[in-house]
Amino acid sequence: MPEERTSRAARFTRREALSLLGAGAATALSPGPIFGAQEPQFPAGAVIRTVLDDLPPSAFAGGTTLFHEHLTHGSDWNARMAARPSRAGSPAPPPRRDPITGCVSDLWEGCANLDFLVEELNRAKRDGVVCIVDGTHPDGGRDINFLMQMSRRSGMSIVASGGYYVDEMYPPEIATMSEDDVTEELIQDATTNPLGAFGEMGTSAEITPNERKVFRAVGRAHLATGLPIFTHTENGKCAEEQLDILESVGVPPERVAIGHLGSLVAPEVEVHKAICRRGAFVGFDRQGGRSDDRNVPMVLKLLDAGYADRLLISADFGVNAWPNWQQNGGPGISRALTVFVPKLRQAGVDEETLRGILAHNSRRFLACVPQVPRRG
Ligand SMILES: [Zn+2]
Repeated sequence: MPEERTSRAARFTRREALSLLGAGAATALSPGPIFGAQEPQFPAGAVIRTVLDDLPPSAFAGGTTLFHEHLTHGSDWNARMAARPSRAGSPAPPPRRDPITGCVSDLWEGCANLDFLVEELNRAKRDGVVCIVDGTHPDGGRDINFLMQMSRRSGMSIVASGGYYVDEMYPPEIATMSEDDVTEELIQDATTNPLGAFGEMGTSAEITPNERKVFRAVGRAHLATGLPIFTHTENGKCAEEQLDILESVGVPPERVAIGHLGSLVAPEVEVHKAICRRGAFVGFDRQGGRSDDRNVPMVLKLLDAGYADRLLISADFGVNAWPNWQQNGGPGISRALTVFVPKLRQAGVDEETLRGILAHNSRRFLACVPQVPRRG
């Protein structure tokens, strides 16, 4: 446990530390230093565009913002994922009993159970979460009205996203659309819906021509709308190439979070460091589970290299993964905060750094000056 990672912990009260770490009541943290500095500087007019309102980033200073989770999915999502050509030959997941309906099914009808989900969001609030980004794109079953109802009923702020997933899951018309067409469609989505980000924008193990087109298009849609972009990589593959494409159309790297980099097994974190050096965010976004033990030393390496301000943490929680919800005995949607973060703390990461990652980096990534008027 290196001394420098523990020496500043005393600057936080126990209540603040417990709240941040998800172990106490959802008492708001008072604004405080980030990495030894003050509240982050945001551009004039910057907001976080949630499904219910445009809010100043300071509205979320008091807790954790999770930048990549899933609160809505289409009822056919699991079946479509399982049917992807790249999954051919993989064993089908065993059928499971839905705890609400009693049906044996891969689908979970609780996805549409508002009361259940509101209770989960209330529990996440108590854990210290103040805002959740839903990374489900329209083709994956994004449901803005349902997100609005969840947010209204629970008081949890929710950010909705636009975009496309990976080539295998694209709507068929993408293949025949031009880059201009895709760009226009993404801008149109952000103009007609209260979107706060583009994501999760995915590429396959090797980037396909369609994915390259869509990535260029979302980069151009960012320039037109101001919305930040978070990505899906295939276990970290093509991470730098994703950033290359986005930068090639003019996207500033600090508006991009490259995703699933905790799944890139690389003890020396060279790719992670390269992404950080270029100024983009590195997403450790499947946390609170099996990969935690492998990821803790990777995060420590990046902290030691001075990249604390480039890290983002989330869980990529799936609304349809019903055993993971707290009411079903799981850790819930706050698991990156309640399961993974304590492991970082135990490894010696100080409270100021944790606060910087959870409460500041996520807002620095999300906050933008929207170039399109708010609708809805
Ligand atoms: Zn995701």
